[in-house]
Amino acid sequence: MVKLHIGIDDTDSRKAMCTTYVAAIIFEDLLKMGLTPIMRPQLIRLNPNCPYKTRGNAAVALRFSADSGKLKKVKEVVLNRVRELAELECDGTEPGVAFYVGEEMPERLRSFSMSVVRRMVSVGDAFAVASDVGAELYALKGSKGVVGALAAVGMDRIPKKTYELIAYRAKQNWGTFRRVDDNSVIKMDSMTNPWTFDNFDYETNESRITPHTPCPVLLGIRSLDSDMAFYAFSILRILEPVERVLLFETNQATDLHIQKVKIAEIEGETSVSVEGSVADLPRVMPGGHVFFTLKDETGTIQCAAFEPTKSFRNVVRALRPGDRVIVYGGVKSKPGLSLTINLEKIRVIELAKSFHALTPFCSICGKKMKSLGRNKGYRCPKCGNRLSESSKVFVEEQRTLTPGVYTVPPSARRHLSKPLLFEDLGTS
Ligand SMILES: [Zn+2]
Repeated sequence: MVKLHIGIDDTDSRKAMCTTYVAAIIFEDLLKMGLTPIMRPQLIRLNPNCPYKTRGNAAVALRFSADSGKLKKVKEVVLNRVRELAELECDGTEPGVAFYVGEEMPERLRSFSMSVVRRMVSVGDAFAVASDVGAELYALKGSKGVVGALAAVGMDRIPKKTYELIAYRAKQNWGTFRRVDDNSVIKMDSMTNPWTFDNFDYETNESRITPHTPCPVLLGIRSLDSDMAFYAFSILRILEPVERVLLFETNQATDLHIQKVKIAEIEGETSVSVEGSVADLPRVMPGGHVFFTLKDETGTIQCAAFEPTKSFRNVVRALRPGDRVIVYGGVKSKPGLSLTINLEKIRVIELAKSFHALTPFCSICGKKMKSLGRNKGYRCPKCGNRLSESSKVFVEEQRTLTPGVYTVPPSARRHLSKPLLFEDLGTS
């Protein structure tokens, strides 16, 4: 008997299919062939900043103990299923499959997987690593899917893993409205949260467990615990047939994509955490986006809370120069523009004292003075008395912000990002 690791990526398009569904079907195919799973199926989220990702940039891994005499047949079954189910006619879809047979996962392959979660990795790099460790890669159309497929194979140990229970729809319902009672989602959320998470967005009043694409997924329940995922599923009122249910182990909500860096080390299309201080007053831009500059001992960088982050922008707007913070987010590079961190989370460590300058009152008649222009002093509109600029009065601002961790609402959160509640559970 040998250990067979299978990675699959990029079988879906923006419109249809889902790599987890392809994996669910293959999982069943291989059980029927008498293979024994050595781990749960895994759903692996890759670099969320990858510019050509489909929806969630997810790959899957399946791991079995198999009779070495059956390997050739097994690989054939897997490749045929991917060919059959993948959206091959879709331009951007370039499915990749990776196989690795071995008792121990090579460290080289594990570190390759971490690179793919955290930065941009080329197809050439994937082929080089595969040839080094003896993994087989199949590019079924184009070749970019092999990167995620090989990365999924190498992710056999997920630090602080979470789970997602995925229920799939009967084929005749693909593309139609998903019939899951919203009230039962709210009930499920109240009974199982925080062990399940991202169930309902109370800010937009929307269920978060059902996707909006015409793919085979009916719903997904994200959970910290495998039993709790099934319990939560049992609470739901589902008004259409469920074709199958599969529980995946995942790296979602683990912050695995985030690298702690200094500002001078930041590169585009990565996700980072940076500790520094706020360098200027936050600015509200057209469209409601909020920007500020962060500095540390190595440089400065723009941080942005865009409009879809909704109420999170109030936190960013309440920052003041000198506040100590740790920011978390994806880094975007745009030609000709400096790098910007798209904020996903912020930890406010310490608040600076912030002062407003107030116009002084007249020392003779008590009337509020008028400014004569920047640094030119003041004049009393009633008695003509003059006061110098140094008579300006400063008052300390009452800060509305308190130290703590703030995150974007679920609707704006990346799959890989750890929700706020986990901080309270002490899993940070
Ligand atoms: Zn006066």
